[in-house]
Amino acid sequence: MKRYVIETWGCQMNVHDSEKMAGILRGCGYEEAPSAGEADLVLLNTCSVREKAAAKVFSRLGALRRLKRARPSMILGVCGCVAQVEGETIFRRAPWVDLVMGPRNLAQLGDLLERARRDGRSISLARDDDPIVFPSGTAARAQGPKAYVTVMEGCNKSCAFCIVPQTRGREVYRDTEAIVAEARDLAAGGTPEIELLGQNVNAWHHGPDDLAALLHRIDRLPGVRRLRFTTSHPGHLTPRIMEAMRDLPSVCNHLHLPAQSGSDRVLKRMRRGYTRAKCLAKIDWLRRAVPDMAFSTDLIVGFPGETEEDFLDTLDLVRAAGFAQIYAFAYSRRPGTEAAAATDGVPAEVQSERLQRLFRLQEEIAARANADLVGRTFEVLLDGPSRLDDDVVKGRTRCNRIVHLPANPAAARGFLQARIVRAHPHSLTGEPAAPASAA
Ligand code: SAM
Repeated sequence: MKRYVIETWGCQMNVHDSEKMAGILRGCGYEEAPSAGEADLVLLNTCSVREKAAAKVFSRLGALRRLKRARPSMILGVCGCVAQVEGETIFRRAPWVDLVMGPRNLAQLGDLLERARRDGRSISLARDDDPIVFPSGTAARAQGPKAYVTVMEGCNKSCAFCIVPQTRGREVYRDTEAIVAEARDLAAGGTPEIELLGQNVNAWHHGPDDLAALLHRIDRLPGVRRLRFTTSHPGHLTPRIMEAMRDLPSVCNHLHLPAQSGSDRVLKRMRRGYTRAKCLAKIDWLRRAVPDMAFSTDLIVGFPGETEEDFLDTLDLVRAAGFAQIYAFAYSRRPGTEAAAATDGVPAEVQSERLQRLFRLQEEIAARANADLVGRTFEVLLDGPSRLDDDVVKGRTRCNRIVHLPANPAAARGFLQARIVRAHPHSLTGEPAAPASAA
C-alpha cells in the first residue's frame, strides 16, 4: 500500500482541506505514513497570509530535497494558498517538486497524482469562475469530538492587507441540504460538536437561507450538542445571527470576531467596512444577551500609516471588548494587495514593540477574566490526553476555554462537569465535579 504525509500550515480551512485531501488519498488506496521519510507522497498544504508563513514552505522544500534525491519515486506536492500564488514559480525555485495544486482544485487531487506520475509533473490552479466541488462525506477527519464542515469557499471582501481573495477566489456557497446532511451524518456517527467553516462564514447564504437559518436547521439535528462557526466578519454579524446565538441551545457562547484594529482611521484604510463603535456595539449586545459570552479576535499591528495614537485605540478596544483570546500579527506586506503599494510602512522595531505591549495587556485581561471563573462549574468536552503530560486530559468549555484535568482513563473523552480550581492566562485547571457522560 502506498503511504502519504500531509503537512499543514495556517487556518482551520487549511486543516479541513487537508482532511479532505486525506479522504481522497484513502479513496485512491493510500494510507497515512508516520513521517515524510517513510512516505511515497508528501503534500505541503500551505498558507500565504503572512510572508513568514510563505517563506517557511520554501525552506521546508529545501529540507525535503534530500528525501527526494534518496527516493526519486516519492511524489512531492505543494498545495493550498502558496501554490495558488506562486504557481509555476514553484517548479522554477524547487525543480524537485512534482505537483502544484491551488486550494479550489483539491477535488482533482487523484487526477493530478496520476498525471504527475505519468508526465513527471502536474499543476492545477483555480480561476475564479471554475466550479467548486465540495466533497461530501469523504473527508478523513482527525479523531476527536469535533468536526469541521465547509459551508463556503472564497471571500468577496477587499481588505487592503489580505491575500485570501487572490488565493481562494470569489465566494461560492454550498447547498443548505448538503451541509445539513453532512452535519446530520457526523452527529449520528457520534460527533457532538460541529464547526461550520468559511473565510467569511456569516456572509453564507443559499436561496432564502442565511447563516441564522442554517444554525436553526443544524441545531435541531439529533446529537448536535455544540455548534460553532468561523470566521465571522463584524460587518456581516447580523441581528438574526446574534439572536440565533442567544436562542439556540447548541450554539456555543464563543465567537471569533476579527476586529483587526481599534482605530477607525486604520479600519477605513484597511477597507474593513465597519467602525470600532459598530463592532463594540455587537460585542456588547451579545454579552448582555448570552450568559458567559466570550470573544476572541485577530488584530494586525503596524499596518501602514498606523500612528501611536491609532495603536492606543487598539489597546483601548482590547480593554473595552475584554477579549478572552487574541491572535495578533505584525502587518506583513503581501504583493498584489492594495496595501502593498503603501509608502508609509511602520518600521519592524515599532511593530514588534507594539505587538509586545498588546500581548502584555492581553495576558493581564485574560488572566483576570480566567481568575473570575475559579470556583465555578462548566461543561467540558474532553478531547483526549494533554500532549505535554500523560497524567492530564484536556477539553474545552462551551465558551472555548481550554481546561486541563487529572487523567481518568475511564473518561478521557465525552462530556464532564468540571469545577475550575486554577486560572492561567491561556487555560484553566479543573477537577471533575460530576461523572463523565458519553459523547
Ligand atoms: N477571513 C478572515 C477575516 O477577514 O477576518 C480571516 C483571514 S486570515 C486567514 C486570518 C488573519 O490573518 C486575519 O484575520 C488577519 O488578522 C491576519 N492577516 C491577514 N493578512 C495579513 C497581513 N498581510 N499581515 C498580517 N496579518 C494578516
